[in-house]
Amino acid sequence: MSNYQRYLSIKNQLKPVIINRKYLYPKGGSAQLINKLEAELKKNNADIKFESRIKKVIKKNDVWELQYSDSLLNFDEIIISSMSMIKEISCDGLNIIPKHKESVFTHFHLIIKGEIHKPISYIRIMNHQFIHRISDITEYSNSNNHVFSIGVFKDKLENKSDLEIATLIISYLKKKKFVSKTAELEKFFENDYISYTINKSQRESLENLDDSLKFLKSNNFTYGISENVERWSSLI
Ligand SMILES: Cc1cc2nc3c(=O)[nH]c(=O)nc-3n(C[C@H](O)[C@H](O)[C@H](O)COP(=O)(O)OP(=O)(O)OC[C@H]3O[C@@H](n4cnc5c(N)ncnc54)[C@H](O)[C@@H]3O)c2cc1C
Repeated sequence: MSNYQRYLSIKNQLKPVIINRKYLYPKGGSAQLINKLEAELKKNNADIKFESRIKKVIKKNDVWELQYSDSLLNFDEIIISSMSMIKEISCDGLNIIPKHKESVFTHFHLIIKGEIHKPISYIRIMNHQFIHRISDITEYSNSNNHVFSIGVFKDKLENKSDLEIATLIISYLKKKKFVSKTAELEKFFENDYISYTINKSQRESLENLDDSLKFLKSNNFTYGISENVERWSSLI
């Protein structure tokens, strides 16, 4: 292999996988996907169990037993959300009490009056001091104005007030031509959402033990879905 070919093969390996060109968000938000999935499962007479907490998951005699407070269910294969609060997972003698990592997701929701320049669904921002994502979520709301959800790194906000941050966000949206120069901030609110994810090394140890157990990559909905598309589409 020539040096140039070697360079090309390394360069290709390093290329980030851009999935959002292929998988776009449903216009009405992720709830549309959930409703479609529910309808498809019902059409195929699949049972869905809601509002019931699984306490333990144990593999016994090649079968996964899901222990609820009042009942048991058995499965050949299971896929667990990484955000699941299951208390104990046991597989072939390996007993794991999941440790959960806490993450705080901070978003500013802005209601904006005025013209929108670029129609967007979700954009990752890589080079801003505190903004890491921008979404136009107007379709999810009943508002006559535009609603933007802006993901921010809380630890990069320094001591700025919420109003200062919202004002900086609006300036950024104008500068990058997401909204018109004359757009006005009608209202805003800040929201901290705390989520808990099962420790990555625990997930990997369990997945390595058994092919019939998988964890959903749950920190990003699109990645979680896209990683399973091939597998799930074969079921439909
Ligand atoms: C503020 C915020 C904004 C986000 N924005 C985006 C975005 O714009 N785009 C994107 O792609 N992703 C986004 N994400 C990530 C996205 O929400 C997650 O990737 C996705 O919800 C993960 O799906 P999941 O089914 O694995 O987990 P979840 O959606 O968290 O669902 C897990 C479910 O399991 C239930 N549960 C937990 N423990 C048990 C138990 N012991 N027994 C039974 N049920 C249990 C919970 O009640 C919950 O209903 C965002 C996340 C947050 C917090």
